Order: sequence, then structure tokens, then C-alpha cells
Amino acid sequence: MEKRYIIIGDGIVGSLLVYLLAQLGIKNVTIFTTKYHKASVNNQTWLQHGSLYDTSIEEQKTVAKLLAQQGPLFEELFHLQNHNRHGIMGVSSLDEANSKIDFLNKQGLDSYIINNREAEAKLSHFYAPDLIYLRVPDHPFEEGTILNICRSIGQQNGYTYRNADNILLQKTESNGNGYHVLVDGTKYIAEHVFVAAGVGTLKVIKGLDDISVPIKAYRSTLIKVPYPFGCSIEMFADKKRNVNFINVSSFNGKPTYLLGSGVRSQEIDLLNNIDNYKKINTWEVDEFIDHFKDYKNVQDILKKICKVEDMISCFKVEQCDEFGNPNYLPWYFSFDQYKGLVVGGAGKATLGLYTAKQMIAKSGIEINREQNYKHDIVLSEDIQKYHTMWYE
Ligand SMILES: Cc1cc2nc3c(=O)[nH]c(=O)nc-3n(C[C@H](O)[C@H](O)[C@H](O)COP(=O)(O)OP(=O)(O)OC[C@H]3O[C@@H](n4cnc5c(N)ncnc54)[C@H](O)[C@@H]3O)c2cc1C
Repeated sequence: MEKRYIIIGDGIVGSLLVYLLAQLGIKNVTIFTTKYHKASVNNQTWLQHGSLYDTSIEEQKTVAKLLAQQGPLFEELFHLQNHNRHGIMGVSSLDEANSKIDFLNKQGLDSYIINNREAEAKLSHFYAPDLIYLRVPDHPFEEGTILNICRSIGQQNGYTYRNADNILLQKTESNGNGYHVLVDGTKYIAEHVFVAAGVGTLKVIKGLDDISVPIKAYRSTLIKVPYPFGCSIEMFADKKRNVNFINVSSFNGKPTYLLGSGVRSQEIDLLNNIDNYKKINTWEVDEFIDHFKDYKNVQDILKKICKVEDMISCFKVEQCDEFGNPNYLPWYFSFDQYKGLVVGGAGKATLGLYTAKQMIAKSGIEINREQNYKHDIVLSEDIQKYHTMWYE
């Protein structure tokens, strides 16, 4: 009988697992999708070239390097063209600007300081005179682009997509892998199971109480504004105030503008009870809006923001180190006692491809020469070295 493969979750990691399995010529894949929170659609799935990170901190430098490599790779693999746009970033000092430019140039990416007059013309309301502005490379694919491509690849390969509410892994002695997947009361046994459930990960693996995955979730508040704001660039990141303003398209293709404020991120303690944290109350909205108060003509902006009801709560899931501190790196785990099971998350949407590739490597799927990926994902030795340092 043909082997069965199961993917739980269809965010960027689940979607890229579909893509990679299809590349390997693998059939009989079932993807369980849920109505639960999907970080990959609820925020911008922005593909930054590492420009947002503090490249003086070793851990962030690793992430920045991975991002710098993954952005162009996405374009290459999915034959996406003309998406190579630029953003503007405002930083506090000349030193910070120079170190970012230096880092990006070393990765082969173009970045330079732009004069304040040009920045003011481009940023309009969001111009703040206390910042130094630099042009940064970015890949603003429309929100959902990569997910949609992967889904159509899955469908072309005859993969089954099933909606389900309750998905749980349970221990079993009836098969050699030591577990089965329980979906809305029906048992499934598969040769390989990939859990890419983001914030729902711990809920899904709860039944396997002898394994643990060191992750933490953070909640951020975001606004999606369904009309333009008068900001004439694609992306603006203000590193001093920790605010982003981004022009994306929503899943259904309608243009959307997105305001994000990193300042509002807060740790979620009860990862298994995430629904309780979804509601955003009035004081949180006020606090969020407060982060935009330093900008020129802010009153005009605020008037528009206040009309917006589409204030959403978004969850990031990050791996913790041994002291419980989160870090940005992608995570993936396999377990001696549960054969064929891999659990993973991207940390950054940009690193979805890297994460999915690592999950397949950990799954024990044997890849022979004929079956090899049509496009392989090659990591430079430098990046491998950093990665080994952190994880092996
Ligand atoms: C505010 C914000 C801003 C961000 N900005 C960026 C950025 O600029 N650039 C960047 O690269 N990344 C960014 N990220 C991070 C990025 O969005 C995530 O790291 C990435 O999307 C995670 O992808 P994933 O596939 O691991 O998880 P998700 O996209 O969350 O997918 C999880 C899947 O599992 C399913 N699921 C959830 N719970 C359950 C359950 N109990 N049972 C079964 N299935 C379940 C979901 O429905 C979904 O299909 C941001 C995140 C946030 C919150």
C-alpha cells in the first residue's frame, strides 16, 4: 500500500512542506486545515532581507543572513518576478545606518542612506526629522501569494485538503510509529506526520505527554487599513519607535495597508488556551495608536485609524532557549520514540522554506538521487556554521 503523509496546518510552513513533497514526487498527502489563527495570513508574510535585525547581535545576525538568502530563493523557486521592491527604514544613528548598509552590501544587497528631503517626499505623514533614513531591499509579495501557489501545486498533485476542528496526536501500540492522528474522532495512521500548527502546536501534541517542545507565543496588535493613508512607499520601518507601515494585498487580493507596532507584543502564558486572548480592548487600541503620535500630521492619520474596526490580534511563535528566553530562529524537532513525526515552526515567515526543508530532513524520508528536489535549497557554509552552533 502507498505510504500516507499527513501535514497538520496550512500556514507558510505547511504550504512549503506541500511544495517540497510534491517536488520529491510524493503522493498520498493529506493536509488538515483548521479555522484557527494562521500567522502567515494574519500578518504580512513579508520577506525582509535581514535589514530589520540588529546585526551586532550574533543570534539576530544569523537570522538576518538566513533571510537575506531566502528572499531571492523564493523568487527563484516560484518564478515570481518584478516583486523586487525597496523600502525605507528610519534608524536612530549614523552608526546604526552604516552597520546595516555594510551588512546588506556584504550579502550582495543594495542599501544606502537617502537624504531627508527625499525621505520626507516619499513618507509624507510618516516622516520624522529625528531619524536617519536608508533604502533597504525587500520582497513584498502580496499576502498569501506563496500559500496560494503551494496549494495549487498540492491540488495538481492530487493532495487532499480537509478542514477539521479537533486534531490531536495520541499514543498507540497498534502501529510501529507509536502514535496516531485523531481528527474529529477518526483515527489516521501515517508513515510521516508533520505538525506545522504554529500557535496550536502544543494543543496538537498534548496527547504525547512524554515529549516537549520549547516554544513561546507572543501576541501583537495589528491594524489592517482597507484604504491608503497617503504614504507613498511600499514599506516603512521606523526602528526607533518600533513601528511598521506596509502596503500589502489581503488574501482575497484587495489592497490593504498594515500598521504594526512591535511595542505591543506580549508573551502569552497559556498557549493551550489561546482563544481567550483574541479580543482587543479599547485601552489596547489607544495604546497602539499612541505609538504613531510622533509623526507629522498625526491627527489626520489618527482620524483614519479610529474608523478602523479591523484591529486584530496576531500570534508569533518562537523557540525558547534553555532559560526560557525566546529567539527568532526557526525550530524543528523529531523524537526517538515517535517515528516519522516532526514538529516545526518558522519563527519568521521568510524562513518557512528553510524550516520546511529541515523538517523533511529530520522526518527520515529517504531521498534518493532520482527523487531529489527539483530545486535544492543550498545553505552557505557560513550559515550552516551558525546554525550548527545554535542547534546541534
Ligand atoms: C504581528 C506579526 C508580524 C510579523 N511580521 C513578520 C515579518 O515581517 N516577516 C516575517 O518573515 N515574519 C513575520 N512574522 C512571523 C510569521 O508570520 C510567522 O513566523 C509565520 O507565519 C509562521 O508560520 P507557520 O506556518 O509556522 O504558522 P502559521 O502561519 O500560524 O500556521 C499554523 C497553521 O496551523 C493551524 N493550526 C493552529 N492551531 C491548530 C490546532 N490546534 N490544530 C490544528 N491546526 C492548527 C492554523 O490554522 C494554520 O493553518 C510576524 C508575525 C506576527 C504575529
